[in-house]
Amino acid sequence: MLVRSGECERCGKCCETVNLTVVRDVALQQHGNLEELKLYLSYRGIQVAGEDVENNFLFYSISIPCRQLNEDKSCRVHETPDKPLLCLRYPKEKADVADIEECSYSFKPAGLAYLPQGVPDPSAR
Ligand code: SF4
Ligand code: SF4
Repeated sequence: MLVRSGECERCGKCCETVNLTVVRDVALQQHGNLEELKLYLSYRGIQVAGEDVENNFLFYSISIPCRQLNEDKSCRVHETPDKPLLCLRYPKEKADVADIEECSYSFKPAGLAYLPQGVPDPSAR
């Protein structure tokens, strides 16, 4: 089990796109193959951000910034009842931020989440 550590440093990256998960084999069947699917989606500003072949998922990323994102990358509805549940829980798992280099959160195996300073992190790459 992976445990989240760190805190949000308000880079705003996760608020600039809409991310959707679709059923991989259905999408590939519709378009013939992955390259055809990517081409079709690219004309609409949709990027295939990744895939999970084992669980039959494809991940789409669409560049549509949230209307509640301020210019300074803060959230207009932070600490109000209008903040969506997904945002309150984000990032829930490692895959949520796998393609966001700027994100200050990290995920580590449960026993490694609170390593004392100076101890090399065996999960570091
Ligand atoms: S509601 Fe706030 S936290 Fe959620 S995507 Fe919009 S700006 Fe980001
Ligand atoms: S990508 Fe990570 S650090 Fe950046 S705003 Fe989202 S949660 Fe915060």
